[in-house]
Amino acid sequence: MGPGKHLQGLSLMNGIVTPEEFDYFHELVISQEITRCAARGYGDGLNAGCVIGLPPVLNFGSPELKARVVPDVLGGKKFICLAVSEAHAGSDIFGLQTTATKTEDGKHWIVNGHKKWITNGMFADYFTVGCKTEDGFTVILVERQEGVSTKPIKTSYSPTAGTAYITFDEVKVPVENTLGEEGGGIFVMLSVNEQQFQSRTMGNVLYVRT
Ligand SMILES: Cc1cc2nc3c(=O)[nH]c(=O)nc-3n(C[C@H](O)[C@H](O)[C@H](O)COP(=O)(O)OP(=O)(O)OC[C@H]3O[C@@H](n4cnc5c(N)ncnc54)[C@H](O)[C@@H]3O)c2cc1C
Repeated sequence: MGPGKHLQGLSLMNGIVTPEEFDYFHELVISQEITRCAARGYGDGLNAGCVIGLPPVLNFGSPELKARVVPDVLGGKKFICLAVSEAHAGSDIFGLQTTATKTEDGKHWIVNGHKKWITNGMFADYFTVGCKTEDGFTVILVERQEGVSTKPIKTSYSPTAGTAYITFDEVKVPVENTLGEEGGGIFVMLSVNEQQFQSRTMGNVLYVRT
């Protein structure tokens, strides 16, 4: 997730480093320290869903959505995951089949479909979901509710990663939970953080790291 505004006002690691000082080197140290426990699935269980699922909210969520979601996730009270891959589409994200269609009044999305291999999906409260919409590919933050079910997938590492098969069955989501532009989901998925997003945006050309 890197440094940035989302850390302002927080107390990091008992104050060893201030939010203003925190940079990618500190993040690298954290990643390496987690790896030292030599249990990859456990490490992924701690924060893998957050580091890939939260940046789209940080970078593209509305101020209201961020105020509701981000403090709880960074505070460890709620969990989030990134739900893009499906049984039929992994790298080929334009081939995914989960759909989001607008209700007649335009106030909600109705999400239907399945996601596979979703790290932390078993215990996630929030799902950053890649959906097929009328305009193309759109990313929507779905909250755990009626119609969302998760079941464990056996992996070669550990069930502590919470790897899940997810079903969305007629899940109603407010349009305010859309992350970025409708149809602009590819930029949401591939951007890294706000600073990098801006530095890669030059005129009409968007440079993204893949
Ligand atoms: C442990 C684990 C955790 C995961 N966690 C998540 C998660 O949290 N969220 C999520 O959304 N997904 C997750 N995934 C899914 C992961 O993102 C996909 O497995 C990945 O995108 C690859 O997709 P695929 O498995 O469908 O393989 P494919 O896309 O079918 O790829 C199969 C092979 O073909 C190659 N290939 C694919 N396309 C091309 C191309 N155009 N040109 C040349 N070669 C190509 C690939 O390199 C690969 O070797 C997880 C997977 C694993 C194993």
